[in-house]
Amino acid sequence: MLEELKKQVVRVAKEADRLGMCKHKSGNFSIYDPATGYVVVTPSGVAREVLTPEHICVMDLDANVIKWNQINKPSSETLMHLSIYRERKDVRAVVHTHARYSTAFAVLNKSIPPIVYEFSYIGKCGTIPVAPYGRPGTADLAEKVAKTLKNTDCCLMESHGAIAVGDDIDDAFIKAQYIEEVAELYYIALAVRNGQEPPILAEEELAKWAYPKEIKF
Ligand SMILES: [Zn+2]
Repeated sequence: MLEELKKQVVRVAKEADRLGMCKHKSGNFSIYDPATGYVVVTPSGVAREVLTPEHICVMDLDANVIKWNQINKPSSETLMHLSIYRERKDVRAVVHTHARYSTAFAVLNKSIPPIVYEFSYIGKCGTIPVAPYGRPGTADLAEKVAKTLKNTDCCLMESHGAIAVGDDIDDAFIKAQYIEEVAELYYIALAVRNGQEPPILAEEELAKWAYPKEIKF
């Protein structure tokens, strides 16, 4: 099972890199396996072009390294992933990126309001919030991010990047892609209005989404 999860982490890390969401070895990816209680996580400093399942590290939730290749340590930002799994028992995967538009708003410490319908999927509390600044790799940042993600699946990280959680790695990854998509849209909307906030969708409206009953089977 862990071997299969390692392959999934590699696949998504490569795809995120290809999409330009985590250039220059940035970003990190993990999956939690409830059967073993272990987390598989991407290593520090390995280019995505050469990344293979053999590079993926196995850890427990207390940050003990269970298995690694004795060369490539787990990502220096792993504590953040572990804190999230401890805080959110429902989460099975974490995707952290330094995608461009998401990170620009993170730098500005500016949350992204629900401007389009995708927020019904990604922004459980309506808005994509910003976790307060913490130095990368620290327990302090790990705690702040886990706290911010208590009631939502997506957030920005002040002066750093973005992070998404999901039921599996594909779910977390698509949320991370949506964060970047809505960040870009928000940027364009602000730009054409000279910095004036665009209209936002009410939380009640977002909550009303349902598959059309007019479609008959
Ligand atoms: Zn980072």
